[in-house]
Amino acid sequence: MRLHYVIASLALLAVSLKAPAQEGCQRCDHQGVVACKKHKNGLLEAEARVHFCSIAAACPDCQGTLTVDCRHCDGGPGVERMAERRREIQAWLESSEVAKHFGRSVPRCQSEHLELVFETGRKIKDGRKVIDPHELMHQVADDCEHVASRIVEHFDVVEDGETKGNGFPAKMRMWLWSNPDDHASALETFLSTSARGDFKLLGRDPVFSVWQEPGFFATAPRIRSVFSHNMGHMLISNLERELDIGVTGGGWFDAGLAHWYEYERFKRSVIYCFEEASLPDKFANGVWKASMRKLVAKSEGGLFVPLLSKPTTAMSAQEQAVCWSLYDWLVAIHPAKLRPILTGLKAKVPTREIFKEHLGATTLEAEAAWKAWVMETYPKKDPTRRR
Ligand SMILES: [Zn+2]
Ligand SMILES: [Zn+2]
Ligand SMILES: [Zn+2]
Ligand SMILES: [Zn+2]
Repeated sequence: MRLHYVIASLALLAVSLKAPAQEGCQRCDHQGVVACKKHKNGLLEAEARVHFCSIAAACPDCQGTLTVDCRHCDGGPGVERMAERRREIQAWLESSEVAKHFGRSVPRCQSEHLELVFETGRKIKDGRKVIDPHELMHQVADDCEHVASRIVEHFDVVEDGETKGNGFPAKMRMWLWSNPDDHASALETFLSTSARGDFKLLGRDPVFSVWQEPGFFATAPRIRSVFSHNMGHMLISNLERELDIGVTGGGWFDAGLAHWYEYERFKRSVIYCFEEASLPDKFANGVWKASMRKLVAKSEGGLFVPLLSKPTTAMSAQEQAVCWSLYDWLVAIHPAKLRPILTGLKAKVPTREIFKEHLGATTLEAEAAWKAWVMETYPKKDPTRRR
C-alpha cells in the first residue's frame, strides 16, 4: 500500500517535471493572472474594446495589459500572453508619429477603424457634471466604432483583416487638441496645410482635426457629436473608391448619411459642415422629425430635387436636414440600395440615372415617395430633449 503510494507520487513528479506546474489556481481561474484593479468606472471594459490606449499603457501596475500576476500561485498560461501583449503595446507606443513630433506622450487610442488623438483640458463639461477626458476619449471611440458598425451593415462591407476585403483601406485619423497651436502644427507637419479652422481630409487616408474651441467643441456632447458625424463622412469617402462624393455630385448622400449616423447615435443632429465663411445656421433644435414633417407638409415645389448637384458644404442647414431625411427614407425603405447608390456616385453617375436604375423612379417620383413616407411616419410633435 505504502509502496503503491510512493510510485504514484513519483509518476506524478515525472509528469510535473515534463510540464512545469504553471496552471494557476482557482483564484485566477487557472490563468496565473488577474484583472488589474486600476481601471475603474467601466474603463476595464472600455479598454478591452480598443486595440491600444496610451493612458492604459501608462498604468504603473499593468502597463496596459489589463492583467497582473496572481498573488496566490506561481503563474499560468496568462503570463506569457501578458508578456506578449506588453511587447505589442510597447511597439505601438513607439510607432506614434504624433507623439514623436510633439516629444510627449499625447493621449491617444486605436480601435478597429480609428486612430484617435485626444488631448483636452483637464475636465470637460458633460451636462451638469464634468467628465474625465480619458473616459470621454473611450466614449468617442465607442461612438465612432458604432458608426462604423452601422456603415459596415448598411453597405455590406466585408472586412477580412488582411486585404480588408471591400472594406476601408485606412484607419480614420481623428485628432482633438486643447491648444490651437498644436492643431495648426499637426496639420502643417502631417498634412502640409496652413489651415487653422477645423480641418477634414476625405478620400485617401482621411484625417479630421479640431481644437477644443470654446463655444464650439468644448463640451462632451459637442465633442461626441462632431466626431461621430465626421466618422460617417470619412468612412464613406474611404469606402470602395477613395473619393469624396460630397464634391462630385453626391453631396445629398454625403450630407444625409453623416447627419443620419450622428442622429442615430444621439437622437439629434447638431453638426453641420459649411464652407468656412458661412454664417451660423441651424435647422430646428437638432431634433428634426416633427419639423421635417411640417416642412414637407407646406412645401409646394421640390425640396430634394434642387439639391442634387449641390456640394455638401454649400447646403444650408435646412437643406442638409432634407438630405438626412431622404437618407432616413432610403435606410427604412430601400436599405439594399444603399450600396448600389454609393457605387454609382463613386463612379460619378448622375443621381437621376442611379434612381432610374436602382429605385425604378425618376427623382421627382422618388421625392414624392419620400414626402409621402415622411407624412406617414414622422410624428407631429418631437419629444423635448435637453442637452
Ligand atoms: Zn492564481
Ligand atoms: Zn484608455
Ligand atoms: Zn492597469
Ligand atoms: Zn457633415
